[in-house]
Amino acid sequence: MVLHRARSPLALEDRPIPTPGPSEVQVRVLACGVCRTDLHIVDGELQPPSFPLVPGHEIIGVVSAVGTKASRYRLGDRVGVPWLGWTCGECSFCRSDRENLCDRAKFTGFDRDGGYAEFAVADERFVFPAPQGLSDVDAAPMMCAGLIGYRSLRLAGDARKVGFYGFGASAHIAVQAARARGQDVYAFTRPGDARGQEFARGLGAVWAGGSDERPPAPLDAALIFAPVGALVPEALKSIAKGGTVVCAGIHMSDIPSFPYEILWGERVVRSVANLTRRDGDEFLELVGRAKIRTVTTSFPLEQANEALDAVRGGRLEGAAVLVP
Ligand SMILES: [Zn+2]
Ligand SMILES: [Zn+2]
Repeated sequence: MVLHRARSPLALEDRPIPTPGPSEVQVRVLACGVCRTDLHIVDGELQPPSFPLVPGHEIIGVVSAVGTKASRYRLGDRVGVPWLGWTCGECSFCRSDRENLCDRAKFTGFDRDGGYAEFAVADERFVFPAPQGLSDVDAAPMMCAGLIGYRSLRLAGDARKVGFYGFGASAHIAVQAARARGQDVYAFTRPGDARGQEFARGLGAVWAGGSDERPPAPLDAALIFAPVGALVPEALKSIAKGGTVVCAGIHMSDIPSFPYEILWGERVVRSVANLTRRDGDEFLELVGRAKIRTVTTSFPLEQANEALDAVRGGRLEGAAVLVP
């Protein structure tokens, strides 16, 4: 499914099967999650370097060919391909354990073709073994929604009480990771979204309410998963002194101005960008140990546009996944 320009539907096309470069693997795609980032690309809020583009960076598949210098995986291995597709290994960020900020990073389904397809190729160094014990469809959202949620939690430090603003694909996985780390989650949904609040409580949130409500006690941190800048001051009003508000998305509407007093008291606002391979290793280990699950709705690959619409409308519980 190919995007030829922003704000146009993806087109179903037959293309040659991509050949892996020397250090790449070719993956036969079994499932590919639909991430809100894909929506930002399709809607023109994020500009990829070039078109046409095959989106998709939550790939679960099997290795179907290996490059001449690739040695980490064998034919038939079940693998996951995430957003981080390549880093330079040389810049100051790469050399300080912050490859997520690499100046020359390349991202799957953005700088290079992704997983809205039957086949994809990926640099083997950035490919993970697929999580065990989960179907292909259920494993796919772990590759971005899960990973970014995990990194966001990590950046919130050792907060005991954590607020989640927006309870979609990322949050429904992160709430389980938080519980496994001994953290209590307070879920904020759209005001009046009783079903979303029920969904959050069912996955282990200790409290759920509308984003216009205050939690029963001040929080130690808040993660904002919804791409809504107006939530930043709301979250600041809900955290205690010294707390952190983490913006987990790659794109957000403008943040309205707010009084300095809600930032005062060493409160911090920060963003989360991308992932490191270390995040992936740690998170996937936690998925297995804590038996983290996902709630998914699958769509045939050729219904990618319908799947994107469903994510845009916030109509799904959990995550949307395409199946070739
Ligand atoms: Zn770099
Ligand atoms: Zn993503």
